[in-house]
Amino acid sequence: MILGVIADDFTGATDVASMLVRAGMRTVQVIGVPNVAPKTQRGALHLPPEGAHPAWGGPAPDADAIVVALKTRTIPAAEAVRESLAALRWLQAAGMRQCYFKYCSTFDSTPAGNIGPVTEALMNALGADFTIACPAFPENGRTIFRGHLFVGDELLSDSGMRQHPLTPMTDANLVRVLQAQSTRKVGLIRHDTIAQGANSVRARAAALRREDISIAIADATTNDDLRTLAAACADLPLLTAGSGLALGLPAIYAERGWLVPDTRAAALDATTGRAAVLSGSCSLATNAQVQRWRDAGRPAFAVDPRALARGEPVADRALAWARAQGDAPVLVFATASPNDLQTVQSELGATQAGALVEACLAQIARGLVGSGVRRLVVAGGETSGAVVQALGVTQLRIGAAICTGVPWTQAEGALFNPSLDAPLHLALKSGNFGGPDFFDEALRAIAA
Ligand code: ADP
Repeated sequence: MILGVIADDFTGATDVASMLVRAGMRTVQVIGVPNVAPKTQRGALHLPPEGAHPAWGGPAPDADAIVVALKTRTIPAAEAVRESLAALRWLQAAGMRQCYFKYCSTFDSTPAGNIGPVTEALMNALGADFTIACPAFPENGRTIFRGHLFVGDELLSDSGMRQHPLTPMTDANLVRVLQAQSTRKVGLIRHDTIAQGANSVRARAAALRREDISIAIADATTNDDLRTLAAACADLPLLTAGSGLALGLPAIYAERGWLVPDTRAAALDATTGRAAVLSGSCSLATNAQVQRWRDAGRPAFAVDPRALARGEPVADRALAWARAQGDAPVLVFATASPNDLQTVQSELGATQAGALVEACLAQIARGLVGSGVRRLVVAGGETSGAVVQALGVTQLRIGAAICTGVPWTQAEGALFNPSLDAPLHLALKSGNFGGPDFFDEALRAIAA
């Protein structure tokens, strides 16, 4: 195992994992910090203690990179630090050579953290005297110039992120943003330095260290900039970034002889069985995807949160309906337009409505898999978390990308593998990803 990644949310973890696979690293994502130390000694049998995380009844997964998916983006900083350090210890025990703290490409955080506090805690634990912070993801329009983050053509502070309900980003100057949540001094590696190559970046990092600056926001406007940064930072114990920086790492590891890039890194075991889509996201992108499916006259079942609140057996009805559709891929959705969502939320309460819908979709997921569905597309970050948990999935092997940031994955983990006749493939999509045809593209990408 070469690279250990600590990701601050679930779909962000899948995003960075997808990037690593694309560049030839065999990558596994584990969900939460496994509570049993992985086996690192060759060959020895490892018996987990009673009540252990089911993923770790055996040795650590055979992979070049392991991504630990946490949910620490918006929890209190002290908790985010504690969980991130637990993930670090686990990855260290699994033998990682370099650590990568992955956050959002829009640097989602509050003035209290969590990017700064987690970065500093990881640096302290790793004995690192310097690291970079680079959320740039040019392929998705996230670029950094002179320390300022752009979303497409707009400064971060002029973009929709200004109004984010949990982490409003009102300052595009990332040096200032990170400094506000750090005790260490924060500096900048400018684009003109990066344009001169990896040696210039190293020289700049050395100069910053002499000024007692130990975290540097790094400019990047292209994938080449990210590759230069990756080359310059290959010896740092800790990297902190969005998913973009990961694209440059496999080539560096290969140069060092640590990695033989595997052209079949994205290969998953073949599967058979039915396909289904579950949608609990109400984003604009997902609304368009659901609409496209229904417009095409394909089988679709609407989950009504009011019926759930009345205690009606909505999941049972959905499952009976799905069985009656035969082999045709089905869509079960709670997805609602912004207006409808607002009305339901004001009637039932947003948290209550969300919890009812998540529990129902999770129950439907179990029922579908129980009746032979082996290819399941799930739309929505929270919804994906609920579904994965209900299915007892503790790790995901990452396959080929359907669109940027959304790969097919293969469910792993001792909880259900033995009972299934064929592997279970999952595509977990965070709300805003994918074009209107995403559901169909996903199903065609992995036709049984
Ligand atoms: P996204 O990735 O788009 O944010 P999530 O799954 O993370 O999607 O969040 C969507 C939330 O909205 C979930 O908690 C889900 O249960 C809830 N939800 C979905 N449909 C409805 C609906 N019709 N009424 C109320 N809440 C809903």
